Amino acid sequence: MTERMDHGPGAGRLEVVAGPMFAGKTEELVRRVHRAQVAGRGVVVVGHALDTRSGPGRVASHSGLEVASSTVGSAAEIPALVEPGTRMVAVDEAQFFGTELVDVAVRLADGGLVVVVAGLSVTFDGRPFDPLPGLMAVAESVTKLTAVCAVCGRDAAYHVRLSGAVSAEGDALRPVAAHVGGTESYQARCRLHRAR
Ligand code: ADP
Ligand code: MG
Repeated sequence: MTERMDHGPGAGRLEVVAGPMFAGKTEELVRRVHRAQVAGRGVVVVGHALDTRSGPGRVASHSGLEVASSTVGSAAEIPALVEPGTRMVAVDEAQFFGTELVDVAVRLADGGLVVVVAGLSVTFDGRPFDPLPGLMAVAESVTKLTAVCAVCGRDAAYHVRLSGAVSAEGDALRPVAAHVGGTESYQARCRLHRAR
């Protein structure tokens, strides 16, 4: 992909990285952040306070990649993080920010910033997850990633929430529809295995 990182209002663009859990969205976000930093661009990385897995002050991938970030509680707080020299704003876990993030991201891109937004495009029960569909609609670039299905190894466009109990025989955990609280875990699943 050609990156145009020149200055000025026309340089703004919105890039979306979407997919289920474990698809490599954060890895891809961190890769783009590192490239911009190598090019000497000012980058602001933003995480949400609800992202308890990464913890405050960093965004982290499942594989251990991480980058320092500002942690905010809402999309409205993002524009104030932009400083003179900022060329890229990178937002991870976009689903935590709600639909308010669409207007904020568009305004930042309109103002000349490269805005990279990564997040879940699908809920654990297989439905479109706002605000990713709206962000994808107005972006210059959409990178839709898949994970690896935990059952069969095919491309996984979904993830499921599993009950916490594993049988003594090590049977595959089964998807659950209801929130079981605390003991759940998640697996990437393909179209065939998301329902069983
Ligand atoms: P995301 O942000 O989309 O949840 P991450 O970038 O945090 O994904 O992590 C991607 C990494 O997760 C992969 O490089 C791999 O090391 C690991 N991983 C664990 N389970 C899976 C899976 N089922 N499919 C793909 N990658 C997986
Ligand atoms: Mg992630």
